[in-house]
Amino acid sequence: MRTDGEHTVVELEQQMGYLRRVRGTGQHAQLIGGEVTLLGPDAHAAALGVMQRHGRKPMSMTHGDFDYDYLKRLALDGEGQRGFEFLRFAGHFDSLMLGRRGTPRPRRESELHAHRRRFVELFEQLRREHGVRFDLAHNMTVTPRNLDQVAEVTREAMRMGFGMLSFQPAAYVGNPARWREEFSDVSIDAVWREIECGVGARLPWRHLQTGDVRCNRTAYGILAAGRWTPLLDDEDPKDLAARDLFLDAVGGTDFDRPPGLLALALARLLIRHPTLPGRAVGWAARLARRAGPLALLRGHPRGMTFVVHAFMDAAVVRPAWEAMQRGEVAEDPDVRAAQERLSACSYAMAHPEDDRLVPACVQHSVLDPEENIRLAQQLPMA
Ligand code: SF4
Repeated sequence: MRTDGEHTVVELEQQMGYLRRVRGTGQHAQLIGGEVTLLGPDAHAAALGVMQRHGRKPMSMTHGDFDYDYLKRLALDGEGQRGFEFLRFAGHFDSLMLGRRGTPRPRRESELHAHRRRFVELFEQLRREHGVRFDLAHNMTVTPRNLDQVAEVTREAMRMGFGMLSFQPAAYVGNPARWREEFSDVSIDAVWREIECGVGARLPWRHLQTGDVRCNRTAYGILAAGRWTPLLDDEDPKDLAARDLFLDAVGGTDFDRPPGLLALALARLLIRHPTLPGRAVGWAARLARRAGPLALLRGHPRGMTFVVHAFMDAAVVRPAWEAMQRGEVAEDPDVRAAQERLSACSYAMAHPEDDRLVPACVQHSVLDPEENIRLAQQLPMA
């Protein structure tokens, strides 16, 4: 089917409006659906504009196979002025993908390092020439075929300029023609061990959990002088107390706001939680000690997050979702586990037409096949 910018913008307007109503503002949202750069740069920019207007922080999901000219036309307006101050992109690179320009059939992850580097360089050039800042994530699907290369990708990519490295163990979801391997051999633990091997450090995650532990795992830290240090030491009671206070005080506060409003929000925070500055100073001193003061001063410190997100197989998602729609708790333990995970889902998609948010697992396992047929009728090849 063809890619239609107008259709994308109209649908986004409704989806973002719905998200705003049910979830408020100040959160991230992914612009996702096939390859986002199949949209022309103007339509892509318009889509990001809609998302921003509705208070989202958009992230464009791409395979990263585009040129500087595309990025420039996306980021700048007709007069060559910045249309965006800040861009967030997630580039998906792995050796399971075919058809990339220059490396259409990669056999090893290492063959893609030059593409990963080039992707970051495009944004560095844009920042240098036009002052557009960026935040980049690296995505990679993991199967038994490339599991043993996760450590190497981590080691290389964490120094390229990405702010997040995210790995997704493959699941039996989407197009069955792509299910060429035994995916179930790749567990979230196995992927995490490989990432730790690449980072050269333990990645603590249990103390900051989003959603269900069977779905997500995240480690937040800083990279300074090539060494990664977690923001919080999960074995230090003082850090855990600081976490509790911070979450209690700050909760879902969005600090990404104009200076005046930010000052107001901070002032309100300090009045309500006067012990916060003291705790923050103590936490920062401990972090500096762990990371090394010299590394922080001279090692170009920056945020570096590691994520594993494990989708579920369509075989359990469909019965789990259908039972949930009927208000039933499944008896089958695997289906019940899927229900628990769907109930705690942290990766939902907006369906304003049905007045509901739908977990991405359900979207891909249950809804995509029907919606794709409808879209193929609505948007036939031009
Ligand atoms: S989409 Fe939701 S339910 Fe599915 S794996 Fe991700 S967080 Fe879990």
